[in-house]
Amino acid sequence: MLGPDALHRGSKLVIASHNEGKVRELGELFTPYGIDCVSAGSLDLAEPEETGDTFEANALLKAHAAAAGSGMMALADDSGLEVEALGGDPGIHSARWGGPKKDFAYAMQRVHEALDATGGGFNRANFTCALALAAPNGDDTVFAGRVFGHIQWPPRGGRGFGYDPIFVPEGYQETFGEMDPALKNDLSHRMRAFELLMAANYAENGSTA
Ligand code: IMP
Repeated sequence: MLGPDALHRGSKLVIASHNEGKVRELGELFTPYGIDCVSAGSLDLAEPEETGDTFEANALLKAHAAAAGSGMMALADDSGLEVEALGGDPGIHSARWGGPKKDFAYAMQRVHEALDATGGGFNRANFTCALALAAPNGDDTVFAGRVFGHIQWPPRGGRGFGYDPIFVPEGYQETFGEMDPALKNDLSHRMRAFELLMAANYAENGSTA
């Protein structure tokens, strides 16, 4: 288990993702803390298969593979949309619901049709993000953040990515797809997981003693 001195100003982290958008977003979160990030893609690290059945398990699996492959501390993100009336689907399969072309207009349509078929009009949902940190010696830690809201149809807004145009966070009228990206980032599941991770693993000067 990693602890309060795992990260500090001057730490270097490999981000266990080949998705440049994710690497950039996560890199921006760490920069103000003096932590340098490189991507698994730029180090030519292979991507492991996501065989876990929770966001946490998949994030850990990716973080361990990148830490072992690079010899550096590694961070991985696994995230997705959970719709309550669908028993948490698409969940860990959120990316796969877009099909081989990762077509999110199609994935959103699938969510809408599945929800329609339940006939209940119950549309509560949340995004979840698990962030896992792993060291080359195998120590690790993982945190999950959630943002709750509801699914709305039809999709609205061209900002953001993935399922953003059909998700309205609690307390707002706009979808994540319509919202100012800075506000989305402040409210997001990724930010919540990041705050938990930093509270547990970051000491400004490398020691909490
Ligand atoms: P992963 O790369 O396996 O973690 O897949 C995450 C998938 O969940 C993405 O492809 C998106 O479809 C969806 N997702 C995760 N976070 C968000 C978000 O903030 N907005 C919209 N969709 C998201």
